Amino acid sequence: MRKKIEKSDAEWREQLTPEQYHVTREKGTERPFTGDYQVTEEHGIYHCVCCHAPLFENEHKFEAGCGWPSFDRPLTAACVEEQTDSSHGMQRVEVTCARCNAHLGHVFPDGPPETTGQRFCINSVALNFHSGE
Ligand SMILES: [Zn+2]
Repeated sequence: MRKKIEKSDAEWREQLTPEQYHVTREKGTERPFTGDYQVTEEHGIYHCVCCHAPLFENEHKFEAGCGWPSFDRPLTAACVEEQTDSSHGMQRVEVTCARCNAHLGHVFPDGPPETTGQRFCINSVALNFHSGE
């Protein structure tokens, strides 16, 4: 397995904007309907804003109406990790970058039934879109 990227908080702070740092390293959530990637129709790949690992493909994005970019699957099964999240009095499944442990968002079982039935609800500040990939 690929080695994890580990950096100190100070190194991440240096590399990221305050909002990127808050969401990816402190498990924050951006306000809904504020993200950059809500209505992108272009072909392309979304990369981790922290370590640039390719994580999601625009073809797997769907309009969930929840205010965050939503995907029915990650780019590959190995590029993200899922963990139980019991914070805020809810039982949720957190999605993190497999390479650098960045918090990306959560996955819910209410995605499109005609594909995977899953909804990866991802903060757009955790992603960098590369058009045409
Ligand atoms: Zn990453």
